[in-house]
Amino acid sequence: MIPNTKPNTYREVIDCADIKPTIPGAAEAILKHSGVNINLCLHCRCCAGGCPFTAAMDYLPNQVIRLIQFDLIEEALQSKTIWTCVACNTCSAQCPMAIDIPAAMDTLRQLAIQHNIPIAEPNILAFHQLIKGSIERYGRTHKAEIMLRYKLKTRDYFSDMLTGLRMFVNHKLEVIPSRVNDRTALNNILSAHR
Ligand code: SF4
Ligand code: SF4
Repeated sequence: MIPNTKPNTYREVIDCADIKPTIPGAAEAILKHSGVNINLCLHCRCCAGGCPFTAAMDYLPNQVIRLIQFDLIEEALQSKTIWTCVACNTCSAQCPMAIDIPAAMDTLRQLAIQHNIPIAEPNILAFHQLIKGSIERYGRTHKAEIMLRYKLKTRDYFSDMLTGLRMFVNHKLEVIPSRVNDRTALNNILSAHR
């Protein structure tokens, strides 16, 4: 991976000279997995202009698309951007080609896991897994338990303690988890997506 000369900010340009093409037909693979045709991208950067999380990304959303168009999928899979994206859809709402960027990012995250690519933001992956585990147990997210498990996993006990206390005081953190009534329907949904 190319060292980022601007920590915590995206690259101004992609210098492809040192990046080797890895998986031919990457754009077609994204199309197959997500139904998103990234070859429609015009690189107008409307998506990047609206994305609220670019300061935490190493590539802009359209740069990730560019990497895939150049078959540089391994570089895309190693990027922080695919894990920083929160699927808020701000980008796709502004895209003149109606490209579903969050769906493409989702597919890239799945591909990164399937191909054992080193995860650029492992704590974000851990958070995703904890939310998934909560839904599997209760059919809902039990925020207090997710927060507790996340703290134990990352061993970061105090960084946002005040926020947690505020949530608790404002009744945003239930102690007893709420569960869905129809467990069979939940199991059917979960097994359909395994
Ligand atoms: S807004 Fe759409 S067309 Fe423009 S750069 Fe982003 S993905 Fe490409
Ligand atoms: S969906 Fe992802 S890439 Fe698009 S604006 Fe939101 S965070 Fe940025």
